[in-house]
Amino acid sequence: MQSPSSINTYLQCPRKYFYVYKWKLPGSPSIHLVRGVVAHAALEHLYSVLPEVISDNYKANLKVIVTELLKKFWRENKSDFDELNMTPQQLDAYFEETKDMLIQHLSLIFEKLETQMSKGLSFSDAFRKIKPVCEKEYKSWDYYVRGFIDVIEDVDGKVRLMDYKTSKAAKISDAYKLQLAIYAMLYELEHGVKPSEVGIYFLKFPKSQGGEMTLKVDDELIKHGKFMIEQIHASTDSDNIIDYKKNETPLCKWSSGQCDYYDYCFNGKPLPPEPLKSQWEIQKEKEEAEKKVIAEKEASLDN
Ligand code: SF4
Repeated sequence: MQSPSSINTYLQCPRKYFYVYKWKLPGSPSIHLVRGVVAHAALEHLYSVLPEVISDNYKANLKVIVTELLKKFWRENKSDFDELNMTPQQLDAYFEETKDMLIQHLSLIFEKLETQMSKGLSFSDAFRKIKPVCEKEYKSWDYYVRGFIDVIEDVDGKVRLMDYKTSKAAKISDAYKLQLAIYAMLYELEHGVKPSEVGIYFLKFPKSQGGEMTLKVDDELIKHGKFMIEQIHASTDSDNIIDYKKNETPLCKWSSGQCDYYDYCFNGKPLPPEPLKSQWEIQKEKEEAEKKVIAEKEASLDN
């Protein structure tokens, strides 16, 4: 099944798609991926807080809560951070940067709360009113594609699908636009109506510098998503590496690093003879084996 991420990998480099999605070669862990997971978790859980426990000074309270959530998820992902082989000072710098991003994002949340409170709602009612649906999975069997939408906001009947990014630039690139087009398409297929807007919260930036960027959803955007999905399905039917061309760009090797698959492409590193198994396949096999053992035990007790 395709996803915005698999489709964008193919568009960046078909050979990379082959390594990741056909041969299932793992990539190396990256600080950007791990801290992205932690930042997403902290923001998602922020909305699970009961507004009644927040005092009149809600801005200070929410800052403390988001910081504590960040600490909690940072601790819970310690093993992933340990794998990065970074010094404690480097990790601290990333922690502080992530904390600043989340606190900055709070100012957008405060703005939404203030809009609701200016209409006469109490803080608790305003918090409930702006509370989005978080991390929702959408799947289409017809298009054989799935996606997790970070935030679905519905304020006064206007639905907006938003994604959190910790990118260095606040710009809706072609890759991001395609991701948003697929989300809009999946939403429409599921609910029978288009969302009004899709967009990205660029967490490194204040609103005035592109921290919240959106696109109107129209037929063109959804058609773009559908067209690209169909193209990628047609291009990824083969299991033969020859059908996946290398796209040599500065993303293969740069001054301080290289693509995870560089040695396979350019230094003759041999591929494993068979595709590796995904975590999902390993788990499924484990469950099947456990079921078999239980069934055998039950059968021996019956005899
Ligand atoms: S090294 Fe370059 S050509 Fe090879 S998979 Fe990576 S991006 Fe593609």
